[in-house]
Amino acid sequence: MKEKEDYKKILKVLKKFYYSRKGAVHFSSPFKVLISCILSQRTKEENTEKASEKLFSKADTPEKIAKLSLKELEELIKQVGFYRQKAKRIKQVSKIILEKYNGKVPKKREELMKLPGVGLKTSAVVLSYGHGIPIIAVDTHVNRISKRLGLVRECADVEEVRKTLEKIFPKKDWKFVNLGFVNFGREICKPVKPKCDICELKDICKFFRNKKL
Ligand code: SF4
Repeated sequence: MKEKEDYKKILKVLKKFYYSRKGAVHFSSPFKVLISCILSQRTKEENTEKASEKLFSKADTPEKIAKLSLKELEELIKQVGFYRQKAKRIKQVSKIILEKYNGKVPKKREELMKLPGVGLKTSAVVLSYGHGIPIIAVDTHVNRISKRLGLVRECADVEEVRKTLEKIFPKKDWKFVNLGFVNFGREICKPVKPKCDICELKDICKFFRNKKL
């Protein structure tokens, strides 16, 4: 169990390096956030960004995407992995949003999760980055780093990680926790070979302590 001072230090270090960074998903419209999340599944970030930009320059609303043919949509997003499946899914999601939700991305998590391809992570990202509703989105970086630092149990599932982090960190910082951990996970606390030697959190890190034993 960590102390309050440790939580403060984590935020301080992350803010020092990443407070002014853009998130992986930095679009303001909930619809764009949602579609970018679908594009990002099992895809490198730079390819997601290129495909998102190309798609949104042509069609950035459910109405416009629903009007595109599947072939046109595939062509616009072919930079991402599984683009054929994703094109179908994006069309399906756009149609549902138009018909069932009057063209507006739902603000309730349970409604969002009824959309095809939308799970715990995507729904949290859409609420947080798209609708500005406070929730910590737990992706692979947030999950891994929380466990390495010893903030949550090793066996915690993503919902337990989210609830624990939301108890630890002040609500005003919840959106930043995702942004900070994602950037920290890409640059320092990498999945393989984390850069512990230069990490400013090593003195409070469970993984680092265990590595030295
Ligand atoms: S010390 Fe290593 S494992 Fe721990 S947070 Fe830093 S980079 Fe990650």
